[in-house]
Amino acid sequence: MVDNKSPYFNPERETLTREGIEALQLERLQATVKHCMNSPFYKKRFEEMGLKPEDIKSLDDVRKLPFTTKQDLRDTYPFGIASVPLRKCVRLHSSSGTTGNPTVILHTQKDLDEWANQVARNLWMVGLRPDDVFQNSSGYGMFTGGLGFQYGAEKLGMLTVPAAAGNTLRQIKFIKDFGTTALHAVPSYVTRIYEVMQQTGVDPRKDTKLRVLAIGAEPHSEEQRKRIEAMLGVKAYNSFGMSEMCGPGVGFECCEQNGLHFWEDYYIVEIVDPETLEPVPDGEIGELVLTTLQREAMPLLRYRTRDLTRVLGRTCPCGRNHIRLDRMRGRSDDMIVLRGVNIFPIQIEKILMQFPELANNYLITLTTDNDNDNMTVEVELEELFTDDYQRLLDLEKNIKRALKDEILLTPHVKLVAKGTLPVSEGKAVRVVDKRKVYQ
Ligand code: AMP
Ligand code: ZN
Repeated sequence: MVDNKSPYFNPERETLTREGIEALQLERLQATVKHCMNSPFYKKRFEEMGLKPEDIKSLDDVRKLPFTTKQDLRDTYPFGIASVPLRKCVRLHSSSGTTGNPTVILHTQKDLDEWANQVARNLWMVGLRPDDVFQNSSGYGMFTGGLGFQYGAEKLGMLTVPAAAGNTLRQIKFIKDFGTTALHAVPSYVTRIYEVMQQTGVDPRKDTKLRVLAIGAEPHSEEQRKRIEAMLGVKAYNSFGMSEMCGPGVGFECCEQNGLHFWEDYYIVEIVDPETLEPVPDGEIGELVLTTLQREAMPLLRYRTRDLTRVLGRTCPCGRNHIRLDRMRGRSDDMIVLRGVNIFPIQIEKILMQFPELANNYLITLTTDNDNDNMTVEVELEELFTDDYQRLLDLEKNIKRALKDEILLTPHVKLVAKGTLPVSEGKAVRVVDKRKVYQ
């Protein structure tokens, strides 16, 4: 039983010293590499490289290991990377956002138990206890945000409401009727919930008991988080998940909200230059690479997440020494290159969110007009003020100027009425690329 008064769900693991973390990591890494020899994919790769599990003698030796990519998962679709026979597996998930062969992730019962522990640890970390009521607005299916949070919240001992995705009116009814204190939602959907609350006269502060939000699964800016907190009168914590690693629970913010703790008893965290694949110094942005340390069905070595982030620190006032990473700054593969300029959609979002006149929903469209590549940013207005045309023009001009400062080129800006842009109930689609492909 976990002590209700303890700030830690698993005090022994969460408060490990750096030495303690590293000792555990080395032991787990060696066991993982050995176990990977049961995977036809890794066995072959080790043979090709002339590498043996015994070659891993220190934590630094992780760099001797081969990288694994999403393409590897696709190439070995469906079961070719697994390190256990299929009969030992009890669950299959599939990663979102891919084209072609999906990527399949297998779990043994032990994997599922550990995953639930990870999620429970995170939710405990932000102050949730068995008396809380947890509502999950993720889809319950192949997407890991559904079942992942369900089992974790149950493990913690909360009354857990599998509201699932969509049906915002019902979502709000549940929040009110069941006394929901904590909600998991993708950030773009929180805005939608708030809009419908406004339309139906629900005041989240007076009419609900909401106090904690877990927001994640898609990139968002600090400004967007602050808005969500102000809208609902809650604390919103960034939650990083990835199906290949298990799902939600990989990294989560503590009450300090100073970056995401990535759990180093479960993963070895590396940040590398996406071009050279060499490690970058702490504080510099690079690609997040993760090696699983506890996974049984499908351990992955040096998995290239394509997510860009940086190390913020390895200590924290909360008492946890697990590495702290910055919120994701984009992906090494969603970068927009427009007229030779590299742009991350999150940069644009950051600017838009600084304008109180703007609502949260926006869409970036890339087009080729007369052989010129252009960017149009459509963004919804918080409230329409069509009677004041000059004010609209000024606002547009100011947004353009601010965007130019940030991304070094001036996009077209279109201010549209709230509710005009498409709203997805899963991950938001922020970029539509209609440019000509040059042969
Ligand atoms: P999935 O395949 O559905 O598990 O999606 C995993 C991907 O979602 C990650 O590689 C990230 O690109 C993105 N993601 C998940 N959580 C976050 C978060 N908190 N912030 C930014 N991106 C996230
Ligand atoms: Zn902390």
